[in-house]
Amino acid sequence: MRFLPVFLDLKAGPVVLIGAGELLRAKLRVLAAAGARLRVHAIDGNQELAGLGADDAARVEFADSDPLTADLSGVIAIVCAGAGDIGVAMSARAKALGLPVNVMDDLEHSSFIFPAIVDRGDVVVAVGTGGTSPVVARRVRERIEALLPARIGDLAEFIGGFRKSINERIAEFPLRRRFWERVIDGPIGASVLAGRKGEADAAIRAISDPSAFARADKPEGSVALVGAGPGDPDLLTIKALRALQDADIVFHDELVSPEILDRIRRDTTRVAVGRRVGKPGIGQDAINKRMIAAAQSGQRVVRLKGGDPFVFGRGGEEIEALRAAGVAYSIIPGITAGLGGAADFEVPLTFRHEATRITFLTAHKARDADTVDWSTLTDTRMTVVVYMGMTAAPAVRAGLLAAGRSPETPVGVFARVTRPDAQGAIGMLRDLPELVRRTHGGPAILIIGDVVRHAGSLHRQTPQQTPTQIISDLLDAAE
Ligand code: SAH
Repeated sequence: MRFLPVFLDLKAGPVVLIGAGELLRAKLRVLAAAGARLRVHAIDGNQELAGLGADDAARVEFADSDPLTADLSGVIAIVCAGAGDIGVAMSARAKALGLPVNVMDDLEHSSFIFPAIVDRGDVVVAVGTGGTSPVVARRVRERIEALLPARIGDLAEFIGGFRKSINERIAEFPLRRRFWERVIDGPIGASVLAGRKGEADAAIRAISDPSAFARADKPEGSVALVGAGPGDPDLLTIKALRALQDADIVFHDELVSPEILDRIRRDTTRVAVGRRVGKPGIGQDAINKRMIAAAQSGQRVVRLKGGDPFVFGRGGEEIEALRAAGVAYSIIPGITAGLGGAADFEVPLTFRHEATRITFLTAHKARDADTVDWSTLTDTRMTVVVYMGMTAAPAVRAGLLAAGRSPETPVGVFARVTRPDAQGAIGMLRDLPELVRRTHGGPAILIIGDVVRHAGSLHRQTPQQTPTQIISDLLDAAE
């Protein structure tokens, strides 16, 4: 380690800040946020304090004197940012006086350096690379930003608020630590992180015997219903990623892509439960029972589903079962296949006057397609997104034609959307079954409506022709 990371209290005395331009502004902001009293020598004469809160601004004074000869008594540190040669000279002055000094991007003349900072209130993470690469430090910071819950600072503050009273009630240190681990990992911690401080407050006060709570051998289990999105792992939400990293066991659908399963913590148990076309799964009742049993044994359970849990995903049935069993649960939405496909193939689902509403429907098996009330789909300004519609394609076509939709209505079949082997076929309603055949296997969604005309490239398929060209060619051929 070339530099030791420490957290410095800057309230003791003025910090002298010398420099110009945006570099100076950036340091001014970070030092002010740390509560520093600042004496600023702005070489560019800019004494603007816009962007600082009133409290921070009140602690800033501008000095007109020459920093190289100014009185430095009482000063606790010197920072130069965009100060040019003055930085080097100030460094010599500071070192002679034994004052800590930072000259931006100049290790040789600095006795301390600034880390990349993740600032979440009471929780602050400093990332350093010994001054070798601020860009790498920033990348690491971004990773940490993504991993830390937004309200982690609130959690630290919450615990800080109860620390004294718990210290008085639990004498032994290891048991105290156990107490806080259980609070953080259980529903109380989850409430704080979800922004429901009042609920957390009531729950912690309701613990009548903190030692017994800490001694309980079973942690409090829970289930998170997590939407995995349509396939691209980068489309997982930050919350979903965190849940995958925290889980003790993951029950996942077969449809969830291997790249997403890769994001699960290595030592987590994985169980495939969903059914696949032509292959029965363990059944919804068995899934519910196993999830509930795992949660009741104290595990953090993730139920990982393709797309979104509440869009043709049986999330509703699962929370009913969890509620009935009294198991704590949460729901983390995901990007549903219809939205993933629209983005992947650049089909705007609504468009000015052309499409003013959207219907998501399932046409699972031709038999069910018969149960769809096609008469509600007559509006030509409605975009229809069909899930599980591949085998039912002839029934979907028949239903929409019977509802009065033109056989020339643009349709798109989009298979394996957001995955590397995604494929699309675009044409007219009359050719729907043929288009399905052309995409070579599912899963696929069908998008039906005038907006399909606006689709972008059918990447990886026929990039030479735009969808509008394909459709007009088809129309020409039909005449
Ligand atoms: N809950 C899921 C839908 C599950 S139903 C969601 O919100 O997306 C299964 C159907 O979803 C499939 O038959 C198919 O129509 C669609 N689907 C799921 N993943 C898909 C993908 N990567 N590409 C295209 N369609 C997909």
